[in-house]
Amino acid sequence: MRSSEKALVLKVGRFREVDAWVRLLTPTQGVFNAFAFGGFRSRRRFVGCLDPLNLVLFSFSANKTGTYQSLEEGSLINGFFEIKKNTAVLGQAVNCLEFVRLMDPSPQDARIVFDLLLETLELLEETLPQGDMIPFLFRAKAAFELGYRPAFEECASCGTAAEGMKSPLVSVESGQVVCAACQSGRKAVDGVVRRVSPGVLRSLEWIRTTRPADWARLSMPADVARQSRRLIEAFVAYHLGLQWENGYFKKV
Ligand SMILES: [Zn+2]
Repeated sequence: MRSSEKALVLKVGRFREVDAWVRLLTPTQGVFNAFAFGGFRSRRRFVGCLDPLNLVLFSFSANKTGTYQSLEEGSLINGFFEIKKNTAVLGQAVNCLEFVRLMDPSPQDARIVFDLLLETLELLEETLPQGDMIPFLFRAKAAFELGYRPAFEECASCGTAAEGMKSPLVSVESGQVVCAACQSGRKAVDGVVRRVSPGVLRSLEWIRTTRPADWARLSMPADVARQSRRLIEAFVAYHLGLQWENGYFKKV
């Protein structure tokens, strides 16, 4: 049976000289491998399609027993050529791709992750942002969209608004915030906690309620950016089970 669907190409490999395997993300199937038989020989069926970081409309067919899918042909929708020209931006895009490849979202979560990754790549393509925050924002947003719902607006204990707090404490596990006054009255906040500046909570709340297209407008003082990165790392490791270490993601 043949079908067609938009896919983001995450990784491409070669086998038997002219054949390719392609690791894909689609909105309905999540992350999976498909085979492009003769993909490296065919000039016509896959023009410019078989490279990582491409958005392609592929037509698929399953083999008789349904154990694998092969790619019949593809047409390139977006090759993200501006990203590929800029090494620093390309590094950020590849980081997001690697994260998705290892996160391996279920088919139910696939559309959320697909839309988020595509919008993030469009942002990188159009604005070529400075700095290295986008992969962190992407991971935080992925965790938020996949069900991690922190309550950063107020103290979980007394209800004081987080806005204006001196040094709030955040529980990575529950996503709850405790103000300085309540901290002294409590023996311990459950699980892993991080002390952050209020600007971090504001930034993360803003990420939760915006889409990637808005992120080009975000500017953070260096210490807020540093604390935000550490907090995002901690809750992505806890809630999605992936940690960035020495240039690679590892499952934790
Ligand atoms: Zn309080």
